[in-house]
Amino acid sequence: MINKENFERIKKELQQTNTTLIAVSKTKPTAAIQALYDLGQRDFGENYVQELIEKQEQLPKDIHWHYIGHLQTNKVKYIASFVHLIHAVESFKLLQEINKQAEKNNRVIDVLLQMHIAQEETKYGMDNHELLTLLEYYEAQKNRLQHVRICGLMGMASFTENQNQLRNEFQQLKNFFEYLKRSNFLFQDYFNICSMGMSSDYTIAIEEGSTMVRIGSLLFGARNYN
Ligand SMILES: *Cc1c(COP(=O)(O)O)cnc(C)c1O
Repeated sequence: MINKENFERIKKELQQTNTTLIAVSKTKPTAAIQALYDLGQRDFGENYVQELIEKQEQLPKDIHWHYIGHLQTNKVKYIASFVHLIHAVESFKLLQEINKQAEKNNRVIDVLLQMHIAQEETKYGMDNHELLTLLEYYEAQKNRLQHVRICGLMGMASFTENQNQLRNEFQQLKNFFEYLKRSNFLFQDYFNICSMGMSSDYTIAIEEGSTMVRIGSLLFGARNYN
């Protein structure tokens, strides 16, 4: 149900670089999550709102739930009371809605901005220009957005075996992250998350400065979508 050897090995690798492991448990049963939880894992990533809500109700309450998929504005309200970090903010409208629902729940929700680094058109995320525009809106209305905290960037590399291309894409994300840290978030210590790397490319992502990897199949086995 889970691959314990992979988990222990990856954990060791990540410790050396102080990288956080998000165990991506989408489509996997609660028993598998519980098994990894029993080995000490606390951060889990999900992509589907309904599935996340059901799992959150059934599983231990000290789990940190990461929402890593594309999030529709009208669904923010269902996860706002408990979500730990939303990885894929890609519009100002979504940021405003997260702020609104966080306020209703008397809390601050941490988010990452998703940047488009892959060559494929299908992957979500913003380009540099769109991301900077979002930040301009954010700065202009900051006093009304006290219930969201922008903690960094997230990106997904292309689906390719080409190591150089993967490396370039991760570098692009990391460079932009460092740029924003100096320009927009200079005195905001919480702006410190660069979420990049999955089962197939996490070693390159770490070499290129990832601070958080999102790994599913290596821990839980391949997904079956039927
Ligand atoms: C599914 C998913 C992952 C994990 O993918 P694996 O290849 O199984 O490690 C990581 N990030 C996002 C955004 C995902 O949707």
